[in-house]
Parts: sequence; structure tokens; C-alpha cells
Amino acid sequence: MTERDQQRARTTVPTSYESLSLAARDIHLAFGRHQVLRGVDLDVARGETACVIGPSGSGKSTLLRTLNRLLEPDRGDVLLDGESVLRQDPDVLRQRIGMVFQGFHLFPHLTVLRNITLALRQLRRLPADQAAELGLRQLDIVGLRHKADVRPAQLSGGQQQRVAIARALAMSPRVMLFDEATSALDPELVKGVLALMADLAAQGMTMVVVTHEMGFARRVADQVVFMDHGRVVEAGPPAEVFEAPRSERLARFLAQVR
Ligand code: ADP
Ligand code: MG
Repeated sequence: MTERDQQRARTTVPTSYESLSLAARDIHLAFGRHQVLRGVDLDVARGETACVIGPSGSGKSTLLRTLNRLLEPDRGDVLLDGESVLRQDPDVLRQRIGMVFQGFHLFPHLTVLRNITLALRQLRRLPADQAAELGLRQLDIVGLRHKADVRPAQLSGGQQQRVAIARALAMSPRVMLFDEATSALDPELVKGVLALMADLAAQGMTMVVVTHEMGFARRVADQVVFMDHGRVVEAGPPAEVFEAPRSERLARFLAQVR
């Protein structure tokens, strides 16, 4: 990424988000006989960013997917601003809780702008001109308005991920979930996406971020949540979790990733 592009990757439009709180209560989930989540609790206040860390296979992605009902827990509840999401229409819920994955999941045959406006037109039923206007505004936010008419394959991985973020933001989500959003990116492209995520956090979006980027977690998280074997082993402010781990398991994990 050129320096100019890095600059563009910063949010160019000041925004503030009407975010909501998100909580998980005693979430249990098994795949067949494999108990993957064993009673997970999570509390993310309005405008807070929680970074979820932990070894591969500890249940981080599964937890994230239960939060927006891509998976249904066997037991427990998920609360959006105190209200159970299990009684809400999953389609409506997924507009309120945006999600960004490791792979970008953009439609290759559509332009960048069409990728963003598709859901606005089909789910929100916005007329074409309004959807385009809103889509372009989102592209401004992620610094990619100048790429509106190209196809995803013409963009770098970092730019594609910023388009995926813009697409999620276009639905006016109240919470954003990120599942290893930078893990598939070449190292030089990671920074721009993390900078965008940090901007979102600073502008008051409620976020749950599964990440291996310990520097990001330390800088941006209000709360760091360490998961192992389907449980939250420790959660707290970054300074505590990183500098004074209470459990052997967290200490060992941190020694490995540092
Ligand atoms: P993490 O994101 O922390 O690496 P995951 O939540 O992806 O962990 O996976 C937790 C465990 O659940 C792993 O052992 C994984 O193999 C298993 N798992 C995840 N998804 C499925 C699935 N759809 N079917 C069966 N097992 C799964
Ligand atoms: Mg995962």
C-alpha cells in the first residue's frame, strides 16, 4: 500500500455510531458430541470494544457466530441492549449486528458499489439512487470512493476487506463483529484495516473483535477476553490481561504469541 493509500485508509468522514450493548449469558454449544462452548459469558457495553484472544480451536469463531444467530446455542442467551436476540428475526438481527470474516465474501461479478448496495436494495428496499448515495458515503468512510466502479479482484486484499467493512456499515449496524479480519492479508496490508477498525472503535461502535493482533488488542480494546477450551478463562482491561495474567494458561498463551 502506498503512503497515500494508507492515508486514504483512515476514516475520511467523521461519524458517530448509535451502538447498543451486547451480552452473552452462559452460552453452551456442541457439534454432535463435541462440546465447543461450555458456558460463555460476555459483557460488552455500548461503544466498547472487546478483543477475544485464545488458541486455535478454543471456540472464538463459534462464539461470534452465536452472537448474531448464525449458530443457535444449545443453552444460554444473547442480549442486544438487554433484549434476547433468540426471539428476533435472524434477518433483521444480522442487519443490526454486522459481521466481517477472514475471507472477504465479496461478490466477484459485482462492482464494489453494487456489492455494498445489494443488501440495501434487497433487504432495505431502498431505491437505486438512495442506495448508491448511501453506498458512496460508506466508501468515503473506508477511503475507497475512487474504487466504486471496479470489481473486487482489482483491489488488494486490504482494500477488499475495507469494502466488506463498508458493506456491513451500510446497514447501520448497532454492533460489529470481526472474525480474524486481517488474518488473510499480506503483512503490509494489515495496518490499513486495523486503522479503520480502530477508527470505528474510537467513534463509538460496539465491537467484538477476534484477533491475533496483540498490539491492536492492547491499544484499542476496552476489554480483552481470553478463551480456552470453550470457556472464558480471563477477561479484563488490556493492561491487566497482558501484564498480569492470573492463570497459567493465559501466561503460556501470551508467551507463545509474543
Ligand atoms: P477458534 O475460532 O477459536 O479457532 P472455532 O470456534 O472455529 O475455534 O472451533 C472450535 C471447535 O469447534 C474446534 O474444535 C472446531 O473443530 C469445532 N468446530 C467448529 N465448527 C464446527 C462445525 N461446523 N462442525 C463441527 N465442529 C466444528
Ligand atoms: Mg476462528
